[in-house]
Amino acid sequence: MADYRKMWEELGMDLETHDQLCEVLPQAFGDVYLSQENRPEGMDYYNMVVADIHGIRPAELIEHQKKGGKVFGTFCVYVPDEIVFAADAIATGLCGGSQFWVPGGEKVLPTNTCPLIKASVGARLDRTCPFFRIADMYVGETTCDGKKKAWEILGEDVPIHIMDLPQMKREKDIKAWAEEITTFKNVVEEFTGNQITAEKLGESIKLINEKRKALERLYELRKNEKLPISGRDVLLISQIAFYDDPKRFTKMTNALCDELDQRIKDGVSVISSGTKRILLTGTPLAIPNWKLHNIVETSGGVVVCEEMCTGTRYFEHLVDETRTEVAGQIEALAERYMNINCACFTPNTGRLDDILRLAKEYKADGIIDVNLKFCNLYDTEGYLVERGLKDAGIPVLGIETDYTDSDAQQLRTRVSAFIEMLNH
Ligand code: SF4
Ligand code: SF4
Repeated sequence: MADYRKMWEELGMDLETHDQLCEVLPQAFGDVYLSQENRPEGMDYYNMVVADIHGIRPAELIEHQKKGGKVFGTFCVYVPDEIVFAADAIATGLCGGSQFWVPGGEKVLPTNTCPLIKASVGARLDRTCPFFRIADMYVGETTCDGKKKAWEILGEDVPIHIMDLPQMKREKDIKAWAEEITTFKNVVEEFTGNQITAEKLGESIKLINEKRKALERLYELRKNEKLPISGRDVLLISQIAFYDDPKRFTKMTNALCDELDQRIKDGVSVISSGTKRILLTGTPLAIPNWKLHNIVETSGGVVVCEEMCTGTRYFEHLVDETRTEVAGQIEALAERYMNINCACFTPNTGRLDDILRLAKEYKADGIIDVNLKFCNLYDTEGYLVERGLKDAGIPVLGIETDYTDSDAQQLRTRVSAFIEMLNH
């Protein structure tokens, strides 16, 4: 790993505590990823990105800032990256997926807050993540209660703009979301000093659509009986999609897909026949949360699809590229983003429809509905989702977990029993 200490120091990071994180990550990555057999060669790129996760990309973002560019940190797939990139700024995902950051969040948040929020707040306040230090402005949203209140705490430390996400999907809500996107555009223009023209916005819509298409292509390949790539590897790619340079990410993901196409032609598979195909649905799995995929894939199963924000919710549905006026482009953005089915909406029946459709497309043998501890929204929605799946005759296992390893053994027992049951 290159020496980035000077850069971290200049970012005002707590180097001593950060060193502890740098020590545990490679071990975890090695255990979960490098132990796999027959990985595609194209994974080398993502291995490299993750090995230098706090170095390479942060250095690029700082370079961008030195040239006068701004960096926006986001926490949710409803926030349109297109607006940010259209102002020659960079958007980067900031969701925390490590237990390492949770105690820092618990210093200011109630313990019964979901680990994703606690880790995100802890990463900022404890100064142990360069991405959280670099972002010039955070973009929050009014999705769940935990996040809404966390913005007030984070807002004391860093400039933050909050987007008011509707909670229903009526015609007037989609209009309201378009208005919110317009307000966001004005904020971004003012903060960056760059105007967002129709031409610029058109380019960034294409840029992000291309990224979505590359991910869609990758997911398509998982529909094959002979699986050219593991679920763990795809999860890593989905997680990296949130902060990598979009153009390079698209290129590398398409190159990987070329290799996977060839694997399919050659009949190469990373699983043996009889391995049970599992679809995961539920709360997001932010980097480096690889726990459940690892358990499934070392217990006789393989993850073939994630109906999650780190999964299909991130890339399904393209933004209409035919609109040529800014107002029309914003309408197209609002329509696309309001197609995402998150449990923060009521009703949210579209999510169950999505899961049923995906289960069929990916030929899932069973579904695991995974809930991050203390996420009330997904926990409550789990009742309707699991009932709907049972009604459709699809085996489902509901689990709740956090970022600690304390329940790993118990989870392994439950997941193994579920997969075993699918064999009969
Ligand atoms: S689960 Fe909902 S609130 Fe969380 S990132 Fe996804 S869309 Fe946003
Ligand atoms: S997992 Fe649930 S509680 Fe946590 S940030 Fe997402 S919606 Fe909020």
